[in-house]
Amino acid sequence: MTRTNDSLSPRRAIVIGGSMSGLFAASLLRKAGWQTDVYERSDVELRGRGAGIVTHPDLIQSLERSGAELDDLGVTVHERVALDSDGNVIERLPYEQIVTSWDRLHQIMRATIPRGTHHLGYSLKAIEQDPESVTAIFENGERVTGDLLVGADGFRSVVRNMFAPEIQPIYAGYVVWRGLADEGLISREAHEAVFEKFAFFLPPQNKNIGYPIAGPNNDLRPGHRRWNWVWYRAVARAELDDMLVDEQGVHHAVSIPPPKVRSDVIARLRKDARDFLPPPMLEILSRVSKPFFTPIYDLLVDRMAYGRVVLIGDAAAVARPHVGMGIAKAGTDAEVLADSIASAPDLLAGLARFERERLPIAGKAVAQGRCLGEYMLDHASPGTRADDAHWREFHSIPGILKHTASSAFLRSA
Ligand SMILES: Cc1cc2nc3c(=O)[nH]c(=O)nc-3n(C[C@H](O)[C@H](O)[C@H](O)COP(=O)(O)OP(=O)(O)OC[C@H]3O[C@@H](n4cnc5c(N)ncnc54)[C@H](O)[C@@H]3O)c2cc1C
Repeated sequence: MTRTNDSLSPRRAIVIGGSMSGLFAASLLRKAGWQTDVYERSDVELRGRGAGIVTHPDLIQSLERSGAELDDLGVTVHERVALDSDGNVIERLPYEQIVTSWDRLHQIMRATIPRGTHHLGYSLKAIEQDPESVTAIFENGERVTGDLLVGADGFRSVVRNMFAPEIQPIYAGYVVWRGLADEGLISREAHEAVFEKFAFFLPPQNKNIGYPIAGPNNDLRPGHRRWNWVWYRAVARAELDDMLVDEQGVHHAVSIPPPKVRSDVIARLRKDARDFLPPPMLEILSRVSKPFFTPIYDLLVDRMAYGRVVLIGDAAAVARPHVGMGIAKAGTDAEVLADSIASAPDLLAGLARFERERLPIAGKAVAQGRCLGEYMLDHASPGTRADDAHWREFHSIPGILKHTASSAFLRSA
């Protein structure tokens, strides 16, 4: 028998993964009266993932509901601009948005988790469940039993692999290179051209973008910030396999940790950039000490709830980063999870309600990411599908400026 909402003792949630999804789930379930514990595989506090992050109103709402400290969240940009290959502005779109960093978001969400309920160095190995409870078994031999297990363990989710091993990330055919440049090192010309803006350079099959974020220790003072430099580039599977081999000759199966990207792979990036990028983007790359790349994958489950186990965030669905809303999606997943359970007659009914609401949204986000990503691989010359309004929209510079890192599609029919 499942326990009902009027049970007197607090119910216990085991949250696997201490990144953004896990912190949102722990925080919001706790506010709904749950006892929550977060178990993160890493032995040390998480830092430095993902560099720049674009925010959306939905994300701000999830942060507010979690009780996160929102002062000095990031840098506000007021417009988006597209450059030509000489660095001249060829398109503008007024668009106000707060851009921040993964570190900052993690820091303010981490502060919402009470001491003693966040456990580092716990790697989930197995799950057991029966009609009354669910048990997490960790690599260190410890077992923890609760009412609900939240799989917030990212796109290579161990939890998902136990219940839906057939769902695996699918390589999208391109990678994203990234890096941070200190504002103080950027020339006046490049600074004036792009620093305060969300800037794009969009030759066919390439998206080179960037925006300002805080400096180290959330320093928002002019002169002390950084620019988040990003370049999406098509890379064939065989070439990717070579790029995923580190200096020691070890091949990394899905993605390679940033410090391990080989120097000859970075040298090739810098050479291609010299042949290809407009002056401000090229100069800012020259200020990035060690750019790194992440292969782009699609992932979408067909179920989010498996008995007393539920998947949220990237463990359930990865929308390509053009949509810029992985963390916003994680936050709303956690909100809807807490609300669905609170308003349902029992836990399993709540999880079913959560899945009914969130699975279609995850699908929409993944589809929007694919639409924005088509530009990266489409060999058809503009005009081939000129009669297709949707294709034109996602292949036009105004369309890309409008749809990148925007959550407006979630509100359209
Ligand atoms: C280039 C790029 C740009 C992006 N830009 C944006 C943006 O602008 N805005 C935005 O909202 N999102 C953006 N995203 C997406 C965002 O970074 C992710 O969606 C988000 O970090 C997912 O969080 P998560 O907690 O679900 O997963 P993850 O961050 O992957 O965390 C999973 C956690 O689970 C832990 N874990 C894994 N296995 C185990 C185990 N067995 N036991 C215990 N712990 C385990 C891991 O160590 C990790 O800490 C971007 C992503 C990329 C690649």
